[in-house]
Formats: sequence, C-alpha cells, structure tokens
Amino acid sequence: MVLKVGITGGIGSGKSTVAKIFGLLGIPVFYADDAAKKLMNEDEHLKAKIIGAFGTDSYRNGTLNRPFIAEKVFNNPAQLTLLNSIVHPATIANADKWMQQQTAPYAIKEAALIFESGAEKWLDKVIGVFAPAPLRIQRVMQRDGITEQEVTARLNKQMNEDDKMHLCDYIINNDEQELLIPQVLKLDAILREEAGSKSKRLKAES
Ligand code: ADP
Repeated sequence: MVLKVGITGGIGSGKSTVAKIFGLLGIPVFYADDAAKKLMNEDEHLKAKIIGAFGTDSYRNGTLNRPFIAEKVFNNPAQLTLLNSIVHPATIANADKWMQQQTAPYAIKEAALIFESGAEKWLDKVIGVFAPAPLRIQRVMQRDGITEQEVTARLNKQMNEDDKMHLCDYIINNDEQELLIPQVLKLDAILREEAGSKSKRLKAES
C-alpha cells in the first residue's frame, strides 16, 4: 500500500508550491482545500449535514452559498468549529479513499489543517513547510491582493507555527534563502526508501 504523506504549513508558507514540485516529480497530490470545496457541492450526505447545522440558506440552486456560510463562521469560533467538525471527517475519508487508489510509491495530501483536524492519524509521515511570518505576510498580500491587517488576522487564527513544525517528521525551509527544489529531491529519495520499508513490513505481516 502507498506511503501516505501529508504536507502542511501556515498560510503563505508555500505548501501548495512545494506540493506542486512533488507533483512535477510524478507524485500524486490530493489538495484538501479543493477537495473540501468539491465535496461541499457534490456530496449529498455532507450537504444535508451542513443544511442541518446552518439552515436551508446554506445552498443556492444546489451550490454552497459561500458568502452566507463565511458570514456565519467569520469571527465566530464555535460556528467555525461546528463547520469543521462536519467538513473535516468527510475530507479525511475522501483523501484516504483516494490514497488507497494510488499506485505510486508514495502519495501526498496537501492541507492547511492536518494536526488541527486529527488527519495525521491517517498519514504515515507529515512534511512541514516553514517560512518566517513577515515573508508569509508579504506573499499572501501579493497572492490574494489583501492588506497586511487582513493577512495578520488570518495568521493569528492559525496554530502556532513552531508548535506545528515540531509535530512534523520533516521540514522544508522555504525562507527564500535555501533553494526549494534540492530539498524536495532529497525528501523524495527519503520517502521512496520509507515506502519500500513500509511495503516490506506489510508483506512480512501478511
Ligand atoms: P500556501 O499554500 O502555504 O498558502 P503558496 O504555495 O500558495 O502558500 O505560496 C504563497 C505565495 O508565495 C504564492 O504566490 C507562491 O507563488 C509564493 N511563493 C511560495 N514560495 C516561494 C518561493 N520560494 N519563492 C518565491 N515565491 C514563493
């Protein structure tokens, strides 16, 4: 069975960028954010749960009413926790099913919230992408066209970055001082070895 690898990091750390490099090496990548958005529009069971929690205004013509939901959870941690408690398990299950279908030595799940959602229990290894906060702020301002205050507000809602990195098995330093591609290549070799060990272990057990 494929080695299941997570990639995480704070907003603007460069986790999507790192995931794309793995993708270029032929490694299959599951983008949790995109998958969650798709599931919220297409998974009838999940849709029913969201409507049950937030009301019929949650959908318009079968499509998630994003502004309505955003307004509900914005600055309301209890409502956000409720939404996450509905969406995360569905996304985790979807990612795991996808992982099981992959035939590459290892497959990657890119997600902002891995430890926060308990998704690490479903993964063999987690890679943390690190970048200093000022650089992350600058990147997100440029990427999303928002103000420093808006980025800082998002950043402050996230788990402490040092704590998160301590929970990871490997760290990729994306501070724009150390080159990214050599770090990914090195990790790719390590993960292929790990995948080989996992496969031997599973064979020995069966
Ligand atoms: P995340 O997915 O962690 O929020 P992204 O991968 O989207 O972060 O990166 C945030 C922004 O910073 C993107 O516009 C990306 O192109 C840019 N970026 C990330 N890493 C680098 C890097 N090493 N050099 C230059 N730009 C980068």
